[in-house]
Amino acid sequence: MLLAGAIDGLQFAHDGRELRGTIGLADLSRLAEMSCKTSGMGYFLRGCLNPAGKPSIEVRVEGSLELVCQRCLEPFDFVVNVDVMLELCNDIGGIALAEDEIDRVLAESEMSVARLVEDEIILVLPQVPRHEKCGVEELVAQQQRVSPFGVLAALKKRDGD
Ligand SMILES: [Zn+2]
Repeated sequence: MLLAGAIDGLQFAHDGRELRGTIGLADLSRLAEMSCKTSGMGYFLRGCLNPAGKPSIEVRVEGSLELVCQRCLEPFDFVVNVDVMLELCNDIGGIALAEDEIDRVLAESEMSVARLVEDEIILVLPQVPRHEKCGVEELVAQQQRVSPFGVLAALKKRDGD
């Protein structure tokens, strides 16, 4: 597993730095606790000024996570493809009060890259993970389709007696 380390948020933004790498489950403890699995999530961080001229960090995350379907309890792959711009903010109160569409994060001199990446992954995870077409639902649908014939067959059998 690669260690993702930390960045100085404001310096990273003002210097227009870039950082890319792969982060494994060992550094994504909250995802691991949620029973997610991954062979590694690719990330790309870029420091910049947003259109309002505020220091910001663009966070891109790409990869595949294995989640557990809450309907049939079988694993399935969930593709993550995130690209967000986070404005660095100096006080947490300002973040809470902001009413615009800008995503903000508290500017710190030691910002964990793993936490930045993991936060964005968690935001796009489904609240209740499940297959788009879950096998359990198909099975139920099949049984519903089959049952009228089953009844018919039973009736025919009774007629024959
Ligand atoms: Zn399922």
